[in-house]
This record gives sequence, C-alpha cells and structure tokens, in this order.
Amino acid sequence: MGLIVQKFGGSSVADGDRIRNVARIITETYRRGHNVVAVLSAQGDTTDDLIAKAAEINPKASRREMDMLLSTGEQISCSLCAMAIEAMGYPVVSLTGWQAGFQTDSGHSSARIKTVRTERLLSELDKKSIVIVTGFQGINKYDDITTLGRGGSDTSAVALAAVLHADLCQIYTDVDGIYTADPRMVTGARKLEEITYDEMLELATLGAQILHNRSVEMAKRYNVNLEVLSSFTGRPGTIVKEVTKVVEKSHVSGVAKDKNVARVAVVGVADEPGIAFKIFSLLAKHGINVDLILQSIGRNNTKDISFTISRGDVEVTRTLLEEGKEYIHFDRADVSEDIAKVSIVGAGMINNPGVAARMFEALYNANINIHMISTSEIKVSVLVDEGDADDAVQAIHDKFYREFGDRC
Ligand code: ASP
Ligand code: MG
Repeated sequence: MGLIVQKFGGSSVADGDRIRNVARIITETYRRGHNVVAVLSAQGDTTDDLIAKAAEINPKASRREMDMLLSTGEQISCSLCAMAIEAMGYPVVSLTGWQAGFQTDSGHSSARIKTVRTERLLSELDKKSIVIVTGFQGINKYDDITTLGRGGSDTSAVALAAVLHADLCQIYTDVDGIYTADPRMVTGARKLEEITYDEMLELATLGAQILHNRSVEMAKRYNVNLEVLSSFTGRPGTIVKEVTKVVEKSHVSGVAKDKNVARVAVVGVADEPGIAFKIFSLLAKHGINVDLILQSIGRNNTKDISFTISRGDVEVTRTLLEEGKEYIHFDRADVSEDIAKVSIVGAGMINNPGVAARMFEALYNANINIHMISTSEIKVSVLVDEGDADDAVQAIHDKFYREFGDRC
C-alpha cells in the first residue's frame, strides 16, 4: 500500500476504448489499496493537430496563446478519463496543471517547474479520490498557463512523484520497456529488467526517445523509481533507478544509433599551441555543441582537427569557420553529413577493460570502417558511414548478446 503515480502517453488514451482501458488500469491499482495520481497526455495526435490549427489562423501566434491552446488537449483526455472512472463507480477528480499546483517560470512553450503546491492534491487523496492530472502544463507568476515543452507530461509525472514521495512512478506507453537496441530494427533485441538513470539519459540523448530527458534528470535528482511499461500488454516493464542489481556483471545495457551528426574536418591548421582553443571557444561562444573530437599527428608543421556536431548546426559552423579563417589559420573545412554515431552504453563499463575492443572486433568482422572513437565512463561511441550504421548496430548487438549470453 502506498502512492503510485501513473502516466499515460498520447497513444494510450487515443480513443474511447483506450481511455476505458486506462481507467481499468488506474482503478485496478486503486482497488489493490494504493492511492493513485494519474497524469495524462493529450489524445493521439491532438497536440500536433492543435499546432496545425493555430498555424492556419496565425503562423506567428505568441507563445502565450499557443500555451493557452495546447494545454486544452490534456484537459480533454483527463476529463474523459475521469468520466470513465466515474462510470465504473469510483471516486475521482480531474485537475488542470494549475489546480494541481504546478508553478513554473514564464518560459512559455518550454517552461520549467519551480514548485508544486500539493495542498489540493493531498486533500483529494485524503478523501480517497483517484486524482487525474493534466500533464505538460502549469501556471506562471502572472497566472498565465504555461506548457513544459513537447513530451513534457513525463516530467509532470516525475515531479508529482517527487513532491508526493510516491513509491513508484509508472510511465505507461506503447512500448513495453527499454530494450538493448531498437526492437523494430535489430533482431535479438531484448527488454531490460532494470537500467540506471545515467544509462537511460545516455540512451535518450542517443536517439532512444522513450522518456523526456528532463524527466529522467529529475527522477535521478529526487531518486524517483520509474517503471516504463506498456498500457496494452499488462506485462512488467523496465525499472529505471540509481543502481541496478545486475550492474556488476553487466557491461553493456544497450546499443544505440544517432544519425543526427555531421563531421567537420578543419584541415591544415598550424601545429602549435592554442589552435584547439581558438576553434572550440569560437563554437562554444555561439552555443554549438561539439561531441567527438580527433586531432591528427602533425606533419610539415600542420595538422587536422575533426569533430562532430549535430546536423542542425552545420550552416552556422560553416559560416563561423569561414569568418574566423584568418584568425584560426587553416587551409579548408570539409563537412560530411553522411555519417552516423553508434554507441554502446553500460554503467559497469568503466571497470571492464576489453568492452571497447569487443565492439571494435564486431565492426572489423562486419567490415565496417571507424572514422572516430570516443569513450566515457559509461559509453563508447564510434563514427561510421551512415550507410553502415544499421549493420554496425546489429553486428555489435550480436557480439554482446549472442556470444556472451544474457547481458554481458
Ligand atoms: N501532449 C504533449 C505533446 O504531445 C505533451 C506530452 O505528450 O507529453 O508533446
Ligand atoms: Mg510522450
């Protein structure tokens, strides 16, 4: 017995049948003796549809009015779900973000939660009501409605779990957990029982967009145990928490691919101190994130520096380098976008020498060329040709999960 926060994503509440299904999951949890706070997203594509509707009226609508509009999607799903629960004969109340106490800053369309005032929530829970809360929204100090950014309902749910000291925060979605690789792309991909917050954050930034990043960061900060599971299957999902019990023997939790990368090679820079500083401080000043970096050995007093950025930053980077050519001093800058980053992620990796070597062996056996490598405590990334990326993921996944049995 305790408090459980359950979050249901857009696909889980897409139509009447699915809303009734969600109502069943919530009431079953309640019947087992738990207090339940459920956080819902808008139904299906509602948020996208609302954005399209706004664009028809005014493509330059203010972000304040956009928030006013977009927050309605969640009100629809929550009131309908509350009605379904009423019809089943359980005590229930639905609350908007501001009624549930979400106070945010004024960053319309990407607001940050400042506090959650829990009085109303607690009084409803005291009355033994099931509480349904609209995800993704709050109110700022001017009493205007704000939204937390696309996918923000996960963050609403984790925030509630944190302030209410919930025993568990369940994120119901259309996949039944976190997998060792994308199960739609990789044969043999399997579901993980557990994963650490750090691994989950790495996988999220590498393109496995199952949870809103901010929700995982918040869960880590407040030590909220998360479970990612499907609202359709009823099977146990994946638990995301600080330390997993299998961490000792597991070296690799997942293999991920990121195609949103471009490589920049600055060719023919002087082989002298200060060049890397000049290049990367210029990029940093303009908010450009650099990921993998490789510097060649100097010859004839020149060397090359290559690095990766996201594809959206290519044009700005090109312009900055062109403008800084005199100051940095280089022959030319080559940009290639037909590349991809493939990474293995695992909390126990640092203590297991040889994990990287096994990854490279898998790529060698598959005849895949590596352009760049980078390693961190919990991650090894390689840059390969985009056309090789899917084969690379499969080869690496086979290496770790076929040859070495279960999570190795
Ligand atoms: N409905 C919002 C969106 O589509 C928030 C969410 O689903 O988490 O982005
Ligand atoms: Mg979502």
